[in-house]
Amino acid sequence: MTSPVVYVVSAPSGTGKTTLNRRLINEHAEIQMSVSYTTRKKRVNETDGIDYHFVSEDKFRELIKAGQMLEYAEVFDTLYGTSFAEITRIQGLGKIALLEIDVQGWRQAREKIDTSKSIFILPPSVEELWQRLELRGTESKDVRWRRLMTARAEISSGSLYETFLINRDLDSAYTELQGIIIKGKKPSITKAKGVAYCQQLLAEFDSAGWLQKLAKELADK
Ligand code: 5GP
Repeated sequence: MTSPVVYVVSAPSGTGKTTLNRRLINEHAEIQMSVSYTTRKKRVNETDGIDYHFVSEDKFRELIKAGQMLEYAEVFDTLYGTSFAEITRIQGLGKIALLEIDVQGWRQAREKIDTSKSIFILPPSVEELWQRLELRGTESKDVRWRRLMTARAEISSGSLYETFLINRDLDSAYTELQGIIIKGKKPSITKAKGVAYCQQLLAEFDSAGWLQKLAKELADK
């Protein structure tokens, strides 16, 4: 696929990517978020065709079979995916397409879009990520734990990305994201530093006492 730039932004859940991306598209009309397909149920605050194209699993599988999906992934028992048509639609408007997809999706899409640029947003620490998941207050401890373990797997694939951004606070992370996408600025850390930061987070996953305690507590339940 040859085309204008497509930005891909991925991040483990709880890292603030949705807030950052929403702000970016609200403030910059030249960027449009690609609307994904999903088989998950619509939440009360969501609109079909704006937040997602909500479809049945049969319909989703039909789209895959027809070769219409750029990428798709199963996340927490739900199918999510980006269609080629959505990217073409945004590019037809002369706009930059912004894809908020997970690591599984990026693994597939990177081979199919030759003009893509990828950004991986990281939490400052695993402990902070856990606290942010707790603060959302919407999920049980088991679900939060599952998200944390998915985050671990995603961070271990960090080297698939070219640009890294650490979200220490939302305003600074936003300024940096905006600088990279809109103004073509260099990120504050190099790819090598980003990959090293992923390693540091993985070490925290494997050695933090609070995490081992939590794992035991959940296993004993
Ligand atoms: P949520 O259900 O909270 O809206 O999204 C859950 C996860 O699905 C997020 O981590 C998000 O990155 C991922 N996701 C949303 N749309 C897509 C998509 O089109 N493709 C892929 N691969 N992942 C997606």
